[in-house]
Amino acid sequence: MTTPSTPTIELKPSSHPLSGAEREAILANPGFGRHFTDHMVTIKWTEGRGWHDGQLVPYGPLSFDPASMVLHYAQEIFEGLKAYRQPDGSVATFRPEANARRFQASARRLAMPEVPVETFIEACDLLVQHDKDWVPEHGGEESLYLRPFMIATEVGLGVKPASEYLFIVIASPAGAYFPGGVKPVSIWVSQDRVRAVPGGMGDAKTGGNYAASLLAQAEAIGHGCEQVCYLDAVEHKWVEELGGMNLYFVYGDKIVTPTLTGSILEGVTRDSLLSVARDLGYESEEARVSIDQWRRDTESGALTEVFACGTAAVITPVGTVKTNGAEWTQGGGTSDSVAMKLRDALLDVQRGKAEDKHGWMHELG
Ligand SMILES: *Cc1c(COP(=O)(O)O)cnc(C)c1O
Repeated sequence: MTTPSTPTIELKPSSHPLSGAEREAILANPGFGRHFTDHMVTIKWTEGRGWHDGQLVPYGPLSFDPASMVLHYAQEIFEGLKAYRQPDGSVATFRPEANARRFQASARRLAMPEVPVETFIEACDLLVQHDKDWVPEHGGEESLYLRPFMIATEVGLGVKPASEYLFIVIASPAGAYFPGGVKPVSIWVSQDRVRAVPGGMGDAKTGGNYAASLLAQAEAIGHGCEQVCYLDAVEHKWVEELGGMNLYFVYGDKIVTPTLTGSILEGVTRDSLLSVARDLGYESEEARVSIDQWRRDTESGALTEVFACGTAAVITPVGTVKTNGAEWTQGGGTSDSVAMKLRDALLDVQRGKAEDKHGWMHELG
């Protein structure tokens, strides 16, 4: 592959942004992914020409041909990261470079062009700068969630990597994930459905993985659980992750997360927690964990807590675990649990309340 060119992004801001009063009404109770800011960034890619026609424009519907390849063969990738208000009123994003690099890895897996890291970050920065008033006030867990994504826009029904793509960044204010306080999530460990297979695209952040997870998710709900946990696709034995969050097992003062196998998505939160845990004096490691070990160690008391992690919810303690023929409940979820200490420590870095030892915050002024 040739070195990707870095396009300029032309500014064409909205002449009719939402009024301050309307925006404040939304920010009072934003929920998650329900409202979008005034602008979006779009950049085109064409074979032979590379990235071009970068624009910041008013948020609005896209118009494209019904035979656009993404609609038929799902050549699509996405990212998720957050901008937080800092104590001095400025805004910073959390580890955008990690998301930019993962976006490139996802692009390679789906035979799509890579967005240069600088372009990915610049697109996010420009959007946050123009829609800065949409970043909730400092203090709570509220943030502005950024959703960069890329779709195949070439027209045609022949199966091949497209020769035209659109990279887009949109933003959505996000309220506290648990407005009433953190609540443990119940989990259905599926013994027959799998999320990803060796050699598949489980380590790429692509909509197809989510489409594949929805039926298992519906089954989890049918079993009275909120989320599905997937096991490996070969032995149906090794714990992988939830549909959209990674998992951690807490053994006293050691936290353990499943080793990346190629079918697990490498979460930025997962990676950050390996370091945050060490900063707080815990041990952290990657290891294989089997479903039998999970149950046995919970029953013996060695496994003290389990939690899920991801950008949207940061950390969610796991409560009840159900699988075919077995059910157990994890401890933890209380304010002095390891999960909650890690959650507060990570959020404090993101909100600018604690020292940024690892250089994770990207200041936008
Ligand atoms: C995005 C995602 C995660 C969490 O990744 P973060 O970078 O921490 O938000 C975990 N699993 C899957 C399948 C995902 O798509």
